Amino acid sequence: MGPQNLSLHIEEVRERVARAAVGCGRSARSVTLLAVSKAQPPEMIAAVADAGLTQFGESYLTEALGKIAALRERDLTWHFIGRLQANKTRAIAENFAWVHAIDRLRIAERLAAQRPAGHPPLNACLQVNIAGEDSKGGVTPGELPELAAAVAALPRLRLRGLMCLPPRESAPGRQRHWFEQLRLLQDALNAGGAALDTLSMGMSEDFEAAIQEGATLVRLGTILFGPRVRTISHE
Ligand SMILES: *Cc1c(COP(=O)(O)O)cnc(C)c1O
Repeated sequence: MGPQNLSLHIEEVRERVARAAVGCGRSARSVTLLAVSKAQPPEMIAAVADAGLTQFGESYLTEALGKIAALRERDLTWHFIGRLQANKTRAIAENFAWVHAIDRLRIAERLAAQRPAGHPPLNACLQVNIAGEDSKGGVTPGELPELAAAVAALPRLRLRGLMCLPPRESAPGRQRHWFEQLRLLQDALNAGGAALDTLSMGMSEDFEAAIQEGATLVRLGTILFGPRVRTISHE
């Protein structure tokens, strides 16, 4: 895609996101489009930024750090959306504005302790394993209230909401079912005194269903960039 086409394509995706929001009585601005740029080179990210996107999501730390450094001059906001390992928390706390997949207290404590004092608090979401799948990370719905309370109490970290990676479903009604579960969990936490404002849910295949169930941030990769070609190796 040339720059002109890329910019048109991104405008189309933004319009789809906006239409999904307006179609269920929400404002277009209530949904943030996070561009999932894993496996994309810095030049591609720069082109997408030129087309107006500012929020980028990465899953692999080594790959991400190179791109963050290469694009340092631009005013981009970086989200770490991958699995969190204890030996990676320092670099994440130092280089990202958001983390989406916290699922245990020990990791949250490390991120809080390692967040540099000069940075604003690290925005954090808790990943919930909404369908109890063995292959996926995330806290169980039963363990969520205790983890949320403990993470909310940590300094240098700001608990913003919940994230999920639900089972792949093709029927919109099934897609909505899982997103509804996450929203209900968030509603229950807020009814109990939490102040969560972020539901990070919905990807290329199911973001419209997620928006209908209250997603405030959709994580889009394939639909923006095309299929990922793995040219960058991972740790
Ligand atoms: C890769 C990834 C996405 C983007 O997926 P697409 O289907 O390409 O939109 C979103 N969220 C997470 C956590 C991912 O790892």
